[in-house]
Amino acid sequence: MKKDIVSLSCEELEKELLTLGQEKYRGRQIYAWLSRGVRDFDDMTNLPASLRDLLKAEYRLYAPKILRKQVSREDGTIKYLWELYDGNAVETVIMQYKHGNTVCVSCQVGCRQGCAFCASTIGGLVRSLEPSEILDEVLFSQMDSGKKISNIVLMGIGEPLDNFENVMRFLELVNDPAGMNIGMRHISLSTCGLTERFDELAEKNLQLTLSVSLHAPDDETRSKLMPANRGRGIEQLMEACRRYYKKTGRRISFEYAMIDGVNDTARHAEMLAERVKSVGAHVNLIPLNHVEERQFRPSTPGHMKAFIRILESKGVNVTVRRRLGSDVDASCGQLRRKTEANM
Ligand code: SAH
Repeated sequence: MKKDIVSLSCEELEKELLTLGQEKYRGRQIYAWLSRGVRDFDDMTNLPASLRDLLKAEYRLYAPKILRKQVSREDGTIKYLWELYDGNAVETVIMQYKHGNTVCVSCQVGCRQGCAFCASTIGGLVRSLEPSEILDEVLFSQMDSGKKISNIVLMGIGEPLDNFENVMRFLELVNDPAGMNIGMRHISLSTCGLTERFDELAEKNLQLTLSVSLHAPDDETRSKLMPANRGRGIEQLMEACRRYYKKTGRRISFEYAMIDGVNDTARHAEMLAERVKSVGAHVNLIPLNHVEERQFRPSTPGHMKAFIRILESKGVNVTVRRRLGSDVDASCGQLRRKTEANM
């Protein structure tokens, strides 16, 4: 297969052009076209035709195609299902908040983490996305929707720390002032807790927000819901979080999906408050999105209120995530599943 040109940094492109016997500035010119979403070498009109032919022979260039696009009538949330170069599909969601437009991107086709409540993991992992494919989710949903993207959350299909190198390169590309120039402080990376990668991430000292999908305060419940907890455990996760915070100075955010009768009792709230205090983190409660193939149900509003009251009485900083796009299957992996089932 030909090389993936969109995954290259500007510096790498300059070097590549030199090895192709071209002048270095051509690399910058090509990078500028690519950053603007141009995905056909013939549209790079400031390059000589001979260079365009050379590029076509060396590199592949592909624009993701829209397989499905759904716009929520309730809140304007837009959901895209993109077709990738090999026929696989991933989802991207644009959500509108007061502080700007947030895009939620996928980083893998499917997922191997096996969380019991999640739709993305049902068919397992097919493959990881290239940096270029994650970048194109942001770039092409911005171009198609006409909505300027100011924030990114890596909370779509897949586990970012299971595609570490490609996600790091994606962050570098999307953060580049010569590219989309989205600041690290406007990016959240969500993980099910692959603790063995936390130190490596901390070493990079990125100013992004690390979101940890906790979903339970005790090993028994968490290991049932999240296979990633087995063999690691919550204490190891908290240790890794403490080290991450110490190194980067960035507060961690814990995601907690409220599941009826599973993790939403007063006892869970008390244990959660203890856990969180030791890390100084913030808790983001999410009412579970019901997934057709899964037996779990969201907690009742009454149980959620009681849960929040306990957390707040213990001084925990807690927010509840607003549900957006529920009429467009906007949660993890649901659109991809439905489309596959229909094909
Ligand atoms: N693999 C990463 C990121 C993808 S999922 C992670 O595990 O964090 C993004 C968030 O949505 C995670 O917190 C995940 O646990 C949560 N999630 C998955 N399925 C859900 C559902 N049915 N309802 C509510 N949240 C869900």
